[in-house]
Amino acid sequence: MCAGCSKESSFHHVNGRMCYECAGCGYQIYPLVGTIMENSKTSLWKWFKAIEMFSNSKNGVSACELQRTIEVTYKCAWRMSNLIRSIMKNGQLAKLTGTIQVDETYIGGKNKNGNGIVNKACVFGILQSNGEVRTFVVKNRDKKTLISLIKANVKEGSVVFSDEHGVYRTLTQEGYKHDFVAHNHYNWQKGEVTTNAIESHWSVIKRSIRGTYVHVSRKWLQQYLDEASFRHNRRHRSKQIRADLLEIIHNSSAAREE
Ligand SMILES: [Zn+2]
Repeated sequence: MCAGCSKESSFHHVNGRMCYECAGCGYQIYPLVGTIMENSKTSLWKWFKAIEMFSNSKNGVSACELQRTIEVTYKCAWRMSNLIRSIMKNGQLAKLTGTIQVDETYIGGKNKNGNGIVNKACVFGILQSNGEVRTFVVKNRDKKTLISLIKANVKEGSVVFSDEHGVYRTLTQEGYKHDFVAHNHYNWQKGEVTTNAIESHWSVIKRSIRGTYVHVSRKWLQQYLDEASFRHNRRHRSKQIRADLLEIIHNSSAAREE
């Protein structure tokens, strides 16, 4: 159905442009407008190949890998991977509930000479046992920062497990059931109380940054964290990553038409 003349119609490709035109009334549609592929001169085949790579990879895709596989310049591969990563976000609507693990960590590497840590960023994570994870680059690990993120993302009354970091001890006053493990054990577990799942999410992120991305600047870190959460939250449904990416692209194009 053509949106211009409201008739069943056929559309033909307009030469040299990512545009299709109604044979009846000349109404033109631009299916890529609003999507990450808008304004890109890269072929759709390469885009879908790149999306396929991001869908199938466990730890992410580096720009070098993309450059080699789909044969584009490094600059182009870098731009494409940032655009794909930018849509790998979870809609953060419902608050998490049940048993929650929270933890902070530092992500960042040594500089080129190996002397001293640069770009070290504090990251905070909230993980629902057997459920979703959400992670945030934060300015610091003070009470105001961490507690307000918990309140925004975790339903009151939930059970929250953490390490012994002092700021979490006020969680009880905020309406949560709180318990903690001391970090001086190899296994962060005390009976049912554990932060093992969020700890292993940190290892996945750190391993993938070391292995795939080598290092990540602070500017892009939140996007890498979101990508890792996106994968974690679909970990039992590997085909879901591609389906969701394609749906996000489809919806961004459809939203423009409304
Ligand atoms: Zn028409």
